[in-house]
Amino acid sequence: MAATILVVEDEPAIQELISYSLRQAGHVVFCAENAEQAMAVVNDALPDLVLLDWMLPGMSGVEFARMLRHATRTKTIPIIMLTARAEESDKIAGLEIGADDYITKPFSPRELIARIKAVLRRRSPEVADDMIEIGGLRLDPATHRVTVNDQEVVLGPTEFRLLHFLMSHPERVHTRSQLLDGVWGDHVFVEDRTVDVHIRRLRKALETVAKDELIQTVRGSGYRLSAARNAGMG
Ligand code: CA
Repeated sequence: MAATILVVEDEPAIQELISYSLRQAGHVVFCAENAEQAMAVVNDALPDLVLLDWMLPGMSGVEFARMLRHATRTKTIPIIMLTARAEESDKIAGLEIGADDYITKPFSPRELIARIKAVLRRRSPEVADDMIEIGGLRLDPATHRVTVNDQEVVLGPTEFRLLHFLMSHPERVHTRSQLLDGVWGDHVFVEDRTVDVHIRRLRKALETVAKDELIQTVRGSGYRLSAARNAGMG
């Protein structure tokens, strides 16, 4: 699992230890010492997860978390709060502002990695490395292979990411702009019809294994991946 993680921590030794551990676990790490720097990183590109120290100079970690939760663009970023304070009331305050988890210092790198993995699996399944199988179609993020009964489906990198995203959130209807955010990244300016082009390529590839019907068009809304029969909406 390779996620992009923003570490907001003002103590250099702890920041270094955390970023070292995360890189060892295969993650891409950005560091910030305070909320202002962290905001600059977030404005540049949305990370998959934010590890946020409670006590920061200037704006506190809790205030920063609240800010992320209030902005449309950032409100769904998974947040794990780090704190030296073990009081139950703080934990409750942290979870109330919408943090996904809460880790008390000192913690072991192993515990940190496990908690990150659990939060990502729950909140952003497309970032996790889990094998997914729907309607006989199997996608392995670790090897980048898509197969049906051991027969391989050949996909371009964009079609692979698109399929991975759709299979990670099955049965849900995604608008073109949601797919652009989730698959292309939220700062990439491409037209909505780019999505249609790649959906068409993906269907064509899936046709070779008779699985193109998994990708359904929901008129006026967008696309959905479903193993249930398409009720004539395509
Ligand atoms: Ca601190």
